[in-house]
Amino acid sequence: MSPDDARTTQLAERLDAVRRRIAAALPTAGAIEPALIVVTKFHPGADVQRLRRLGVADVGENRDQEAAAKAAEVADPELRWHFIGQLQSNKARSVAGYAHSVHSIDRPSLVKALDRAMVAEQQETGRARLQCYIQLDLSGAYPELAAPAGGANSGRGGLAPSSMMGLAERIAAAQALELAGVMAVAPLGVDPEPAFELLARLSAEVVEEHPQAWRMSAGMSHDLETALAYGATHLRVGSDILGPRPAVL
Ligand SMILES: *Cc1c(COP(=O)(O)O)cnc(C)c1O
Repeated sequence: MSPDDARTTQLAERLDAVRRRIAAALPTAGAIEPALIVVTKFHPGADVQRLRRLGVADVGENRDQEAAAKAAEVADPELRWHFIGQLQSNKARSVAGYAHSVHSIDRPSLVKALDRAMVAEQQETGRARLQCYIQLDLSGAYPELAAPAGGANSGRGGLAPSSMMGLAERIAAAQALELAGVMAVAPLGVDPEPAFELLARLSAEVVEEHPQAWRMSAGMSHDLETALAYGATHLRVGSDILGPRPAVL
């Protein structure tokens, strides 16, 4: 794999196009640039290495088995792995072994499992605390979509906003976890604007109690402009950089 192979060129062009979209979408000239997390799920470790050479420092994965294997293969201590998928508590130990952050925290039992795993990890490696985002269900922003089976957010995951402050408290109190902020995926097939507007309000609520938790992880390939308009600080972009992946996530 030479640094200038055809795939590297393709990734460089797409990365550049996304970076230009981000720059164009920033709400004010000179606004702080959001972090770009490149979602590499379903794509090989070789692509992560190519992205690394193109200056990418943050990558996202949504399945522990795949992420753990890639993190071991790439083995770059400067690269930050962000876990963005639904997570079973029994995978906490594995995730704590490579992850810089978890964006998908939606229940107290997962907080407990991750804290225990991260305490053990810190004793072994002295690593920094795990950055934790509360994943929120934003289907409440769409009252008109009420109540198909499972709700408008069916399958997208996330905690009901009414439980957010309680979970924030637990994360903030955990020994080896740091409350980083909030995260959400806009419901499928609807205008993302009401979702991100709600997320921005919820983020402000968390920040009022926990000023350190200012991060807002929102915006994917198709809706990053809208997310930026509402204050996203961390974008998670996959297919517009890596290309298509198998349709079912
Ligand atoms: C896959 C995934 C992304 C990236 O989505 P794209 O549409 O490919 O940019 C972002 N966030 C989460 C939670 C994902 O699972």
